[in-house]
Amino acid sequence: MIDNASIESLKSSVDIVDVIGSFIELRKAGANYKANCPFHGEKTPSFVVSPSKQIYHCFGCGVGGDSIKFVMELEKLSYPEAIEKLASMNNFSLTYTKGSSDYSDAKRVLEAIGQWYVKKLDQNPTATKYLLDRGVSHSSIEKFEIGYVPEGREVMQFLQSTLLPVPQAIEAGVLAQSENGQGTYARLVERITFPIYSASGAVVGFGGRTISNHPAKYINSPQTKLFNKSRLLYGYNLAKESIYKNKRLIVCEGYLDVVMFHQAGFTEAVAGMGTALTSEHLPLLRKGDPKIILAYDGDKAGVDAALKAAQMLSVAGFDGGVVLFPNGQDPADLIATGQSEKVATLLRDSKPLIPFVVEKIVEGYNLHDPRAKEAGFGQVKQFLDSMSQIIKDAYIPLASTLLGVAPALFGGNVNLANTKQSFTQSKDDTEMLGIIKTMIEDPSLIDTVINSVNIDIFGAYAEHFTLLLNGENEHPLLMGISVNDQVHTLEKTELLFALRKMLIRYYKVKLRTLPREQNLSSEKKMFLIRKLRTDIIPRLEKGELVTYDLDI
Ligand code: ZN
Repeated sequence: MIDNASIESLKSSVDIVDVIGSFIELRKAGANYKANCPFHGEKTPSFVVSPSKQIYHCFGCGVGGDSIKFVMELEKLSYPEAIEKLASMNNFSLTYTKGSSDYSDAKRVLEAIGQWYVKKLDQNPTATKYLLDRGVSHSSIEKFEIGYVPEGREVMQFLQSTLLPVPQAIEAGVLAQSENGQGTYARLVERITFPIYSASGAVVGFGGRTISNHPAKYINSPQTKLFNKSRLLYGYNLAKESIYKNKRLIVCEGYLDVVMFHQAGFTEAVAGMGTALTSEHLPLLRKGDPKIILAYDGDKAGVDAALKAAQMLSVAGFDGGVVLFPNGQDPADLIATGQSEKVATLLRDSKPLIPFVVEKIVEGYNLHDPRAKEAGFGQVKQFLDSMSQIIKDAYIPLASTLLGVAPALFGGNVNLANTKQSFTQSKDDTEMLGIIKTMIEDPSLIDTVINSVNIDIFGAYAEHFTLLLNGENEHPLLMGISVNDQVHTLEKTELLFALRKMLIRYYKVKLRTLPREQNLSSEKKMFLIRKLRTDIIPRLEKGELVTYDLDI
């Protein structure tokens, strides 16, 4: 079990903006942050994160809670798993009550075995020679902690001799359960290893390259709780400082490319985990606000990958460019053969993202065939339509020239969806919400309010008021108001004024509806109407907050 005190100190050390921001893209909006809700499909952001309250809330689907709740819901984890995940994301060491096995054991296994792999590389001339032949220097081997996994028996012996527990080695992805479930075997054997770090600087897995002609050139540690491939970038831990300083980030295709880029002084280079860039990488790419340079091989696979990535980055509003290495050369080879200058020139002359995308789309169609041309036009238009009007206008001339169509065809339909206010409320609603928010922040005012109104007065917000009375401030409905920065809290005098206004409005409506009331005798109706007209409403209008005592 995780020690409670340790959970509390974890909670107080994490910031919800960092936590949620590492999963989805957040944009600042006033005192809060906004995003498209990760829990329901939407195009306009109604998901709000409040740094001051350390909670999130979605106005679209109603979900909400704190950092732990977010991680639980998004990653489908239990409470302790979410705590462990948060701790590992933040490099926070949890303490456990005695006798329990835990997550930090898996981390310990990864760290220990990583150092052992490094030692094993040193003892294996074939593996070392392979790296040196590829142009990797000794200092790069050291900097990137490149290692080597010997045969399985040795791995098992090492784990035994160091008392590293087998279940945790499985959890860390160092060992795997054999298919019949009977035994375990070592992963990545006879491979050169590249340790993969999380953005916060902990080893979470390894990439392994075969040197024994295994048909799978590269494989990675399996996806584990610690190791989520789709969000990580290889080399980010070493590139981070340069990315922030130089406002540039180079995405290349392989681990060796990253190593060689760094070796040649391009220390902003990172790579995906053998997979294409996806929207899950965007939060990490956005950090430090760098220009993104895609440095890919010029072969068909490289071009396709570059096109997809460039398209995604342009739509997400990134600035940057694309470099395709010509004639089957990859950056690692160029650097290894002393052509770093050429690489520098290629990077400097990278093709900006949007023109690259437009050109590559157009290249994919035979413009002499009207049907193909129409399809190509459709694809380019769809791409340009996904960007702001200003950006779109800037690239219509290029697109129409390349396609050989009239610029007017691209039209000027302004995308209103993005500019529409997400939270539109009537003035009355705003006032009512203000009263509720004020009570959330200062519960001592609830007594004042309850003395002068009954729940009916809150109309559509009666449920909110009931929740408040029951002290259920964590309820999504109340949290929604709490984080909505278009709703303002009121000073006490403003609150009293607003309450009187509400009451006057409510009683005036009552005056009109009372005569039609079915359950009241005529005498009672007359009495109530007279009381409202001559006593209650005039007193309210004079500024007295009349205690609610009407039996209506
Ligand atoms: Zn939602």
